[in-house]
Amino acid sequence: MRSRPILLLFAWLMCGGTLPPPGSAQASDHPDYHRLRRAMVRNQIAARGITHPAVLRAMERVPRHRFVPQRLRPLAYEDHPLPIGHGQTISQPFIVAYMTAALDPKATDRVLEIGTGSGYQAAVLAELVREVYTIEIIEALGKRAGSVLREMGYKNVHVRIGDGYKGWPEKAPFDAIIVTCAPERIPRALVRQLKEGGRMIIPVGRRAGVQELVRVVKRGGRVEKTSVMAVRFVPMVHGAPSPAP
Ligand code: SAH
Repeated sequence: MRSRPILLLFAWLMCGGTLPPPGSAQASDHPDYHRLRRAMVRNQIAARGITHPAVLRAMERVPRHRFVPQRLRPLAYEDHPLPIGHGQTISQPFIVAYMTAALDPKATDRVLEIGTGSGYQAAVLAELVREVYTIEIIEALGKRAGSVLREMGYKNVHVRIGDGYKGWPEKAPFDAIIVTCAPERIPRALVRQLKEGGRMIIPVGRRAGVQELVRVVKRGGRVEKTSVMAVRFVPMVHGAPSPAP
C-alpha cells in the first residue's frame, strides 16, 4: 500500500509519543475541537493514503478529546499517542484509522476488540459496525471507558473486564477482530472465534522490540497472514485482570 520507509516513520511516530513540555497543554483553553478533528483527518489520515470514506467519516465524528485525560485534551488531535493512565496509551490517530480500514468494516459486522484502553477505538468502530465487544484487563480503564461510551450514547459497545487472550467465546464468532496490545504470537482462541472469511488485525512480537502489524484472513479454517508494517504497542499481558484500586 505504501513504501516501507514511510510506514516505519509512521510507526515511529506512533510509539514516539513525544509530548510538548509541561504547561503547553494549557496553551489553548477552548480549542475548536471539531475544526481540529477535521484537520486531523485531512492532514494525518487522508493525506497518508487512507481513503475508506466511512472510516474517514467516523474519525471525523468521534470526539477523541473525550477519551483522554482532561489536561491533555488540547493535544487530542495531534499526531501521536497520549497517556491514559496505568502506563497505557491511546494510539496515534493514524494507527486507529489504518487498523480500522484494514478490518474492512461492514454495517452488519459484530467486532471483537482486545485492549479497550480509553474506549476511543471502540467508539470509532461503533460508528461503523453493528456491535462492538471489547475486553480490557485493567479494571479501572475498562470501567472508565465503559462510562465515557455510555455518556456519549454508544449503545452498541459492550465492555468486559478480563483477559482478552482468551477472547469472548460466549459472543463468538466475530466478523472481525482488532487487537490493540501485542501478544508474542497470534492467540489460537482468537482465530477460533473468527468467522470463516473473517478479518483480524493484530500487532505481534516480543515485549521490548518492534512488532509487526499483521492482517489475518481466515479461509478454510486456516489463517492467511500479511505483514503490513512495523509498530510498537503495549504488550498483551496474561492472567487475571488487575482490579481497580
Ligand atoms: N484501543 C485503545 C488503546 C489500547 S492500549 C484505545 O483506543 O484507547 C492497550 C490496552 O490493552 C491497554 O489498556 C492494556 O491494559 C490492554 N491489555 C493488555 N493486555 C490485555 C489483555 N490480555 N486483555 C485485554 N486487554 C489487555
